[in-house]
Amino acid sequence: MARGLSTHVVAGVAAATLGLGGCAIADGDGASHETDAAVSVVASTTILGSVAGQVVECGGGQVHTLMPVGADPHDYSPSSADVAAMVKASLVVVNGLGLEEGLTSALDTAGEDGAVVYAVGPDLDPQPREGASDSLDPHIWMDVARMAKAASLIGDQLAAATGDDAYATCGLTVSDSLMETDTEVRSILDAVPESRRVLVTDHQAFGYFGSAYGFTSAGVVIPGGSTLAEPNSADLAALADTVRTEGVTAIFANTANPTALVDALAQEAGTQVSVVELYVGSLGAAGSGADTYQSMMLTDARRIADALAG
Ligand SMILES: [Zn+2]
Repeated sequence: MARGLSTHVVAGVAAATLGLGGCAIADGDGASHETDAAVSVVASTTILGSVAGQVVECGGGQVHTLMPVGADPHDYSPSSADVAAMVKASLVVVNGLGLEEGLTSALDTAGEDGAVVYAVGPDLDPQPREGASDSLDPHIWMDVARMAKAASLIGDQLAAATGDDAYATCGLTVSDSLMETDTEVRSILDAVPESRRVLVTDHQAFGYFGSAYGFTSAGVVIPGGSTLAEPNSADLAALADTVRTEGVTAIFANTANPTALVDALAQEAGTQVSVVELYVGSLGAAGSGADTYQSMMLTDARRIADALAG
């Protein structure tokens, strides 16, 4: 590849100054760059895998995403291979803000072994979780404009980690693409009248979405900001009452979490209530129409508009 020589030099500098592991001595013709010396990003969630992947691939590098499609980011336990991948990467990108609850000790271990870890969430103007002023809401990606900022920050971090400014430019390019997506999401959601901009969701993942796009929450099925708690039957009965009294017609489930509790709520609330699945914790599989971050958010916006506009 054309970038071979500069990658070789950069990898050497990075290894010397940052103590990065896994940088092979290139042989001068670029043949060995495919493996150890190539620029690579490890991302925790499929959402960050898509955004950071677009940035790193724009500059000629590659991405490896730890969580498989459909994994719940609150509840993912990494393997020892995941730790090894993090240590070898040029940069590890995680959401932070307590999202990746199962990844904490693996990140510590990888960090001790020399991984360069960047948690992007704290740099995206995080807001408190609704009803919990002492804890920040990790679901930052549900606001596309915040992820546009994330793309440029990831580009900057990658440029710093590799010494290659092309990655900063790539971050801005991806950021621009995401701002276009943000505009499209807004125009799709314009179809929902003011009086119907009320969401009932499986868990408290729509705080940033609500602030950005003008929706409020009438309640969540799973309390506590994560997906790991369980509601009691009194909570569910109270929420079913709210759904009935507020005239809510759709409850939004999450493809990365079983829908049984949401289905139970819909059943308790009555026959006029439909359950609509959204991509929240994970992208969709290839061919789902939600296999990039951009298409995921556009699909969600269309499903919300279809469910609430009628
Ligand atoms: Zn969540």
